[in-house]
Amino acid sequence: MKTILLNDGNSMPIVGFGTYKAKDQEGIDAVKHALLNGYRSIDTAAAYGNEDAVGKGIKASGIPRDEIFVTTKLWREELGYKTAKEAFEKSLKKLGLDYIDLYLIHWPANAKNYDNWQQTNAETWRAMEELQADGKIKSIGVSNFFQEHLEALFATAKVKPAVNQIEFHPGYWQQELVNYCKKQNIAVESWSPLGRGEVFENEHLKEIAKTHDTSVAKVCLRWIVQHEVIAIPKSTTEERIEENINLFDFELSNEEMNLINNLPEFGFSGEHPNFWPDRV
Ligand code: NAD
Repeated sequence: MKTILLNDGNSMPIVGFGTYKAKDQEGIDAVKHALLNGYRSIDTAAAYGNEDAVGKGIKASGIPRDEIFVTTKLWREELGYKTAKEAFEKSLKKLGLDYIDLYLIHWPANAKNYDNWQQTNAETWRAMEELQADGKIKSIGVSNFFQEHLEALFATAKVKPAVNQIEFHPGYWQQELVNYCKKQNIAVESWSPLGRGEVFENEHLKEIAKTHDTSVAKVCLRWIVQHEVIAIPKSTTEERIEENINLFDFELSNEEMNLINNLPEFGFSGEHPNFWPDRV
């Protein structure tokens, strides 16, 4: 599996396994199946309510812990120094692990919900830096941060975020933010790489898939990795889990990359860092 070198020296597989809504036995089985079929990176979050299932799936796979890259996230209701530390310990316990490879702030504090959102993010980040220094987290990062949230964080951060996990799929890929992150040496990770299923009806993507005798899912994922962006597709269907990691048997041409880059917007989730808990 190709990896992405993070700005702290750690490496992360370019394709990982998403687990949103994969809970209980279905979640355990999906994680186990993913690991037994080549995935070495699993993405979960406290808010998904499945950290226990993810932990059980990891154990059931029999794959050594140090060969697996585990990401989890701090939920937006736990922002702050003390709450972040407590939430982290809860996640660790639920996962049944003694360290996390990547811990992300799931959503930044925003002006709508906080009198001083900059300070709330800074205090949260300070807790994460300490957890990293204690050896409990290998890499720390953020999710759904716009440039303004990153710039505010840089004012007090001792450690630069290693990753920004953002909505990124052929219908909505936040090009300016991606360019900014790359310039800052922050790895970009795509959430909803298949636009939660919205991509499958797009005629251009269907046509490109036909040219390569492959599926629309693989075209989207291949487009993402050719952007040097990390993808974490989610599925609980065995064949799809296998399909989504098998991306290296074809390549998109520059013309195909450009065509996808320039598709009109579709499939935006409506989730926006400055509006939560509401959608746009
Ligand atoms: P996704 O884009 O991965 O799409 C998943 C949907 O596509 C599922 O309904 C699945 O059945 C279908 N699918 C998957 N593979 C397929 C295939 N090969 N053929 C046909 N259909 C297929 O959506 P997602 O789950 O929203 O995103 C992926 C992961 O990103 C999540 O599971 C989660 O780990 C993470 N995520 C993070 C955030 C965040 O705020 N940081 C937000 C959303 C998701």
